[in-house]
Amino acid sequence: MDLYEYQGKELFRRYGIPTSDGRLATSPAEARAAAEELGGSVVVKAQVLTGGRGKAGGIKLAEGPAEAEEKAQAILGLDIRGHVVRRLWIERASDIAKEYYLSLTFDRGVKKPLFMFTTQGGIDIEEVAEKHPDALVRLHVDPLEGFQPYQARRLLYGAGLTDPSEQKQILDIVGRLYAAFVGCDALLCEINPLIVTPDGQVRALDSKFTVDDNALYKHPEIAEMRDLSAADPQEALAREKGVTYVKLDGEVGILGNGAGLVMSTLDVIALAGGRPANFCDLGGGGDAQGVVDALEVITSDGQVRSIFFNIFGGITRCDEVARGILQAVERIKIENPIVVRLDGTNAEEGRRILAEAAPANLHTEPTMLEAARRAVELSR
Ligand code: GDP
Ligand code: MN
Repeated sequence: MDLYEYQGKELFRRYGIPTSDGRLATSPAEARAAAEELGGSVVVKAQVLTGGRGKAGGIKLAEGPAEAEEKAQAILGLDIRGHVVRRLWIERASDIAKEYYLSLTFDRGVKKPLFMFTTQGGIDIEEVAEKHPDALVRLHVDPLEGFQPYQARRLLYGAGLTDPSEQKQILDIVGRLYAAFVGCDALLCEINPLIVTPDGQVRALDSKFTVDDNALYKHPEIAEMRDLSAADPQEALAREKGVTYVKLDGEVGILGNGAGLVMSTLDVIALAGGRPANFCDLGGGGDAQGVVDALEVITSDGQVRSIFFNIFGGITRCDEVARGILQAVERIKIENPIVVRLDGTNAEEGRRILAEAAPANLHTEPTMLEAARRAVELSR
């Protein structure tokens, strides 16, 4: 789960990482009030779950309340790479002498958290990594030993940071960032830029914070931060129905049972020359309600032209699934052609049930490849 900048900063503050004072606003009037409370110049920052807001016109300085209202008016509703701005973070403006970069993420290859630090912050880190790879210092932390302060020193010396006051402040921030990362079960904590003000104060000017979905049950207060209105409507519907769903961009909607089978179904659709529009995993179940829920989610995607229902009956019995499909197509009207492949436990019985009662847009095929070909053909 990705957090907005202001939410990430709230977590930073909880762990003692310095940030600037700010307020959330959802209208120009609120932005004005926020600027009045904060006093002086402020930055009006679009809150969207994507980076590069500065370049896209989503971050503007304002001299005072009137200008903050004006800038808020201009930024609200802006489309930043498909993300419409509905929230603003109004922050006391900082004077910037230097912009650094500090992040902590998972290096899955070596199964350890990885710090990255460079004094060339503010810009795209990919650009630094490409053009000045030596300027980007990497440091792995052994998760069992935990973070040790001397490691942070290596990180900073490696980047050529010589100012003792900056060293001291950033050493402290590095330790706190590790605590925040572990404490929140984060997958990414990024500060870009980590600024130094002209009077030598170091603080986080931006935040990118991603929390592991699988750990959210431990952090109800973070789980509550999820912005349901920003979620893809199909994904929100799937979440509500408890269906595992992933959106892709082809034309064939895929429904299978079990992650392995669903993955091979994607492959076989590609092999047949088609492109999956999405996929739903029914898991172990195949009861009518589960099928109805999954079909509802799949058909709510306007890109779907045909549906491939691929079931291998193990514990799930195919006759049960066949009855589920029939009940589902009775309950919700589906215009798209549906191709069903049933195999495994009680497959013959399942096919017979479908053959007897299926509507005209429902086709059964004996093998996965034949079913995939048919579904692809019908998606054209
Ligand atoms: P991003 O573009 O989405 O990464 O958003 P950031 O929060 O990193 O802001 C982008 C850039 O805007 C920063 O690198 C700064 O140069 C500038 N900026 C943001 N806040 C301030 C501020 O308080 N004062 C000044 N002078 N510039 C700021
Ligand atoms: Mn940034």
